[in-house]
Amino acid sequence: MKDSLVSYESITQSDALLIIDMQNDFMPGGALPINDGLTIIPTINRLSSLPFRAVIATQDWHPQGHCSFSPQGGPWPIHCLAASRGAALTTELEQKYITHIIHKGIALDADSNSAFYDDNGTSTGLTPLLKGLGVSRVFICGVALDVCVYATAQHSLRDNFQTHIITNATAAVGSKDDFLKTLSPTDITLCQLD
Ligand SMILES: [Zn+2]
Repeated sequence: MKDSLVSYESITQSDALLIIDMQNDFMPGGALPINDGLTIIPTINRLSSLPFRAVIATQDWHPQGHCSFSPQGGPWPIHCLAASRGAALTTELEQKYITHIIHKGIALDADSNSAFYDDNGTSTGLTPLLKGLGVSRVFICGVALDVCVYATAQHSLRDNFQTHIITNATAAVGSKDDFLKTLSPTDITLCQLD
């Protein structure tokens, strides 16, 4: 992109929007809340109405006893159990433009911060989906910038997609501004919804 603004005119049928983990458990009141998670929803809703080839929402989707849960020795409290209320997309998220859903973290023994591959390297199917749709540019929003959004962006780059993070449509666990500064030397393009 020549400029850093995403607009209706700048989006084409070779572009896909990835909405990462906008689920109840990651919103205030959930099991693993991200501060500011709710405040980015209006921006994500406006983004999803742009003429993307695909609008793909991910859901962290864990079995009981998942390796990432603290009772199993993992780093996180129990969250996003498959088909639970906590795993549902948050109701404020406009869902009518969503064309595909990707579930991640579905294997008992592997976590999956990335929407593309879990920690064992198993594909979620996202790369063949995007390639099959003729997508060459990926725009990523959602939560959390410094965990799943970033991991997704890294794998997107590795699989040769032009990779953008929409900075005003993402929220971080830590300081967003500090994290964004660490991204500047990389190949990820930072942009904003106009
Ligand atoms: Zn998880």
